[in-house]
Amino acid sequence: MSNALRREYLAALGLETWVLRGKSSLPGETARDAVALRETPAAREAGVDWPELRARVAACTRCALCNTRTQTVFGVGSQTADWLIVGEAPGAEEDRQGEPFVGRAGQLLNSMLRAIGLAREQVYIANVLKCRPPGNRDPSPSEAAECLPYLEQQIALLKPKIMLAVGRIASQNLLHTEVTLGRLRQQVHRFGLSQVPLVVTYHPAYLLRTPTDKRKAWEDLKFAREVCARV
Ligand code: URA
Repeated sequence: MSNALRREYLAALGLETWVLRGKSSLPGETARDAVALRETPAAREAGVDWPELRARVAACTRCALCNTRTQTVFGVGSQTADWLIVGEAPGAEEDRQGEPFVGRAGQLLNSMLRAIGLAREQVYIANVLKCRPPGNRDPSPSEAAECLPYLEQQIALLKPKIMLAVGRIASQNLLHTEVTLGRLRQQVHRFGLSQVPLVVTYHPAYLLRTPTDKRKAWEDLKFAREVCARV
């Protein structure tokens, strides 16, 4: 069994492996690695239904973003959607309205979805972070790690046929990689133990700044639509 698959199975049990590096006390041995198991953050919300999950997010104080948010931004859309769109974090407008992708980037996201025949109401839209980072800075690794279990439980409840990660931050956090967005595009990745197909494209806010890349985003959307049709 590959290490990646073993990690997924352990994660399903709520466990993850940790390599503890330390000096051996045995004469003649240099350093030795010990492997330990500890509970994953993902196990935290496992088994929770939609209303309870929403309530937990609304009451969350797991990181300092709870001190600066106006409100949490849980997610929006059909709970029977085939498509899950995942962005980075709420911006100023999302923080004010409590709904993801309602600003200018959201208008463009709606148009992108319409271009492949999907109404906003037909998909589910969520973010890696449920709270706005002040000044729209990038999420810190610890903020993402604390918040991801909420998204993982949303995915477990929704059981989407396909996930579309928009932008580098969402893509890298979901795939646990530092590979650039340019190299992650046009491939079918798999998310979690359920192995949901995941396709990556540009963030609509980036496309507003760099409209010349809209053509590439269109290729990604068509690619995602083909992937979904094959599931
Ligand atoms: N950008 C995101 O990544 N998510 C939002 O909800 C809004 C803007």
